[in-house]
Amino acid sequence: MSLPTSVAIIGAGMAGISAARQLKEAGVAVELFDKSRGTGGRMSSKRTDHGEFDIGTQYFTARHGAFRAEVERWHASGWVDTWQPNLYRIDEQGMQPSTDEQHRYVGSPRMTALSRALLEDLPLHNSVRITALDKHEQGWLLTDADGNHYGPFDRVVVATPAPQAVPLLSAAPQLAKAAEQIGMEPGWAVSVSFATPLNTPVEAAFVRTGPLDWICANHSKPGRSAACTWVLQSTPQWAAAHLETPPAKVADLLLEALGETLHTALPATTLVHAHRWLYARPAEDSEWGALAAPDLGLYVCGDWCLAGRLEGAWLSGRHAAHAVLGQH
Ligand SMILES: Cc1cc2nc3c(=O)[nH]c(=O)nc-3n(C[C@H](O)[C@H](O)[C@H](O)COP(=O)(O)OP(=O)(O)OC[C@H]3O[C@@H](n4cnc5c(N)ncnc54)[C@H](O)[C@@H]3O)c2cc1C
Repeated sequence: MSLPTSVAIIGAGMAGISAARQLKEAGVAVELFDKSRGTGGRMSSKRTDHGEFDIGTQYFTARHGAFRAEVERWHASGWVDTWQPNLYRIDEQGMQPSTDEQHRYVGSPRMTALSRALLEDLPLHNSVRITALDKHEQGWLLTDADGNHYGPFDRVVVATPAPQAVPLLSAAPQLAKAAEQIGMEPGWAVSVSFATPLNTPVEAAFVRTGPLDWICANHSKPGRSAACTWVLQSTPQWAAAHLETPPAKVADLLLEALGETLHTALPATTLVHAHRWLYARPAEDSEWGALAAPDLGLYVCGDWCLAGRLEGAWLSGRHAAHAVLGQH
């Protein structure tokens, strides 16, 4: 199989970035397209005058050997750091320090520092939503929401959440059908900055009661500013029941839950912002690695092809790159 000369990658989250980096290292010209203004997809950070917030991926772990080796490189480059918060588990019985001793990593000084560093030498079209992929004799042509065309490309890798991949896969109905089977769960993430520190030893907690799933003192992560910033994430079930609730109301409800969960009166807030993730995480793990229609030169990756974690996205992107290169 000859090496492709040009590959378009749709989606600049960790799966797309991982595929792009492996292909570039193999000598293939890649071009990335993302509908967002920023980078990193669900590994997203929000910068404000009242501090910064990681509103998607909170931290990541590294279990697979290849990913561990990659994370060590990122660590040595100063793009990620380890994070050891005072971690708790909070359930109906109360609050206990967590016994979970995994190594946790975060982008430094914010999550998107990692995606920015990994994309630095890669061509990326931001704010470009790809709406159609068409295979012509000379290769793949991409069309965006404004009617602009890009290409031709030898191969295309679709690296978006499953529901956003489906409309791009009409040329390969078997891939579209596989992506259609995947359920992705929603989530709300509330960023809040407090005027004074909270009266609690908790810096992060897995919550197993009420609407909250995870709470985290964002300022406890390495390299962040000193402002007292917290991120509150809802359970997927609560988010599904509050998909159309106005963001300000969502923020009120989750802040109320924070006070109850920590048994403390909350100080005044200086900033509150609620973000809705329609496709926060896949409902289940899968074992696909990546999907491929090699006869067409069309490939699909994303966390939903393995597991809903940053590591799953990176590994899936790597699977897609190997498939593009004909290395199975
Ligand atoms: C709130 C939240 C908390 C999380 N916490 C953790 C955690 O603590 N640890 C952990 O390991 N994981 C966590 N995750 C999961 C982790 O963020 C994801 O598994 C991972 O980031 C997925 O990467 P991806 O590349 O597969 O998809 P994405 O990051 O979603 O990237 C897909 C990209 O495709 C783009 N796109 C979509 N459609 C188009 C189109 N038509 N044209 C152009 N671009 C398009 C999107 O803009 C996006 O940038 C969390 C996720 C959320 C939402």
